[in-house]
Amino acid sequence: LVSRETKTEDTLIPVGETIIGNGHMTLIAGPCAIESEVQALAIAAHVKKAGAHLFRGGAFKPRTSPYSFQGLGEEGLRILARVRETTGLPVVTEVMDFQTFDLVEHYADVVQIGTRNMQNFSLLKRAGESYRPILLKRGMAATIEEWLMAAEYIMARGNHQVILCERGVRTFVHHSRNTLDLSAIPVVKKESHLPIVVDPSHAAGRRDQVLPLSRASVAANAHGLMVEVHHQPDQALSDGAQSLYPEQFATLCRQVKAIFKVC
Ligand code: PEP
Ligand code: MN
Repeated sequence: LVSRETKTEDTLIPVGETIIGNGHMTLIAGPCAIESEVQALAIAAHVKKAGAHLFRGGAFKPRTSPYSFQGLGEEGLRILARVRETTGLPVVTEVMDFQTFDLVEHYADVVQIGTRNMQNFSLLKRAGESYRPILLKRGMAATIEEWLMAAEYIMARGNHQVILCERGVRTFVHHSRNTLDLSAIPVVKKESHLPIVVDPSHAAGRRDQVLPLSRASVAANAHGLMVEVHHQPDQALSDGAQSLYPEQFATLCRQVKAIFKVC
């Protein structure tokens, strides 16, 4: 079902007033985690003004350490709903497990499955029964075939609204958190009709690489970007080092729109 051989025309996924897929450039932005209503609304106002189409923010956070901030849970989801009401931006948020799927699905416009859960097959099957579009991140050590097969799990259960998200893979380097696999963009576009967006923030792990990686992704014809932005990155409860300042996100929007026009 994911293959171009079974469906030649590109899949377009409507979310609110935007369309994700070929011919469109979708900008998804927001903090790593929802920390408070004040924080979320402040960041949402900035990213909306700069030109974002969707707002992102984690309520359930998959943290490396069990002692790190784990997210606000359902309260985070309620804050996301308030962001949507206030700004009109649809919201993307991650679901971490089968047990909380119904809850996340209720609040989110797009349900995200993170890199660590790309092959969580019970989660993928549940996503396949969802009425929401699913943003499926690539596993940090997954081949493109494994990633597309994960998407197949979702589609096989009837949900054909899958957005693929390249977010970098684990390599031996120390100059970035992961290594963005730009070549995944043309390969996925050739193999599949599904839209592909790029998350340069989790690929880089540091904000100084986010703008160049964003420009490169759009030049390589990605259908969109998902970027972490924080109004006070130094005080962020997670991923502050890779979060853009609002002014940097405004610059990013201007630059990638110009590149999209000529590509
Ligand atoms: C995220 O987008 O919040 C996230 C945790 O990303 P990843 O699953 O790619 O690490
Ligand atoms: Mn993050």
